[in-house]
Parts: sequence; C-alpha cells; structure tokens
Amino acid sequence: MTVSPSSFIQGAGSLLAGLGVTIRAMFQPVVTSQYPRQLLNISPRFRGHIKLLASTENPEKNGCIACGICAKNCPSGSIKNVEGEKREGEKRKTATSYTLDYTTCSQCGICVESCPSDCLAFSADFNCAGYKREDFYYELVKEFEKRKKTS
Ligand code: SF4
Ligand code: SF4
Repeated sequence: MTVSPSSFIQGAGSLLAGLGVTIRAMFQPVVTSQYPRQLLNISPRFRGHIKLLASTENPEKNGCIACGICAKNCPSGSIKNVEGEKREGEKRKTATSYTLDYTTCSQCGICVESCPSDCLAFSADFNCAGYKREDFYYELVKEFEKRKKTS
C-alpha cells in the first residue's frame, strides 16, 4: 500500500496535535485523586445524610429531646420512630430512637433549620452504598453512639 505525501503530512500533523494535547496536560495541575486511597477534603457546605449532634450540656449524649418537630416538618416523611426517655435528674427527654429513611430524603434542610435544640446537622458522609433499600434506613441514635466511640 502506498501513502500519498499529502496523507502522510496530514497524518503526521494529526499525530503531533494529539501529542501536543498530551504534553500540555502533563504540565497542568492534577485535578483527579486516587480514590479510594486518597480522599479529598469535603466542603463544609456538603450535605450528606442528617446526623444527631451532641447535647450542649452533656457532650456524652445526643442533644435530641424527641419533640418530633423535625418529623412533622419533613416534607418527605423521611423521619420516623422518634422516641425518647426522661432520665433521672433531667428536665427533658433524650432520644432513644430516631430513624432516617435516606431513600426519600431530599436533603432540603428543613429538619435542620426547625430543630429547637440545634442538634441536627448534615454529615460529610458521601460514601453511602448498599444492596437493598433497608440499608439506607439509618438509626441516628446508634450512629451518634458509634461516632462518639470512634472520635
Ligand atoms: S433534609 Fe428535608 S427531606 Fe431530609 S429528613 Fe430533613 S426535612 Fe426531611
Ligand atoms: S426537632 Fe430536633 S429535638 Fe426535636 S425531635 Fe427533631 S432532632 Fe430531636
């Protein structure tokens, strides 16, 4: 097969143009990361699933008083089973169960804004995966206790 000089010049020009793109990219800042070995810092404004925060009076317990306002205000009905108990010597209840159905949560933030105890916030948890719907029903009181032990 013979190659005409004009096609040879066109092919070589195309090859050099491609190499130029590759060489330019080699000297540009790296914009990718080696996930999961290398994790990026999550923006403070990132909205993961909601989480319970510690009580301002006692950091050992969650600050939820089980008033149910968040569940009533949630437009998606994603907050369920909010229950609490009044412990000896305390004026208010402490949540003992709090379920978030993350499959329906739109991360609108209404629950966070309406909580009278300021005990809800968005987590930075972006790595949520599961095999079935039930894997995304989060028990936030248990999640708070687990987080407390590991922090
Ligand atoms: S962020 Fe919005 S949708 Fe999600 S639980 Fe809170 S109120 Fe409901
Ligand atoms: S509004 Fe706040 S204090 Fe009341 S149940 Fe929800 S998280 Fe708990």
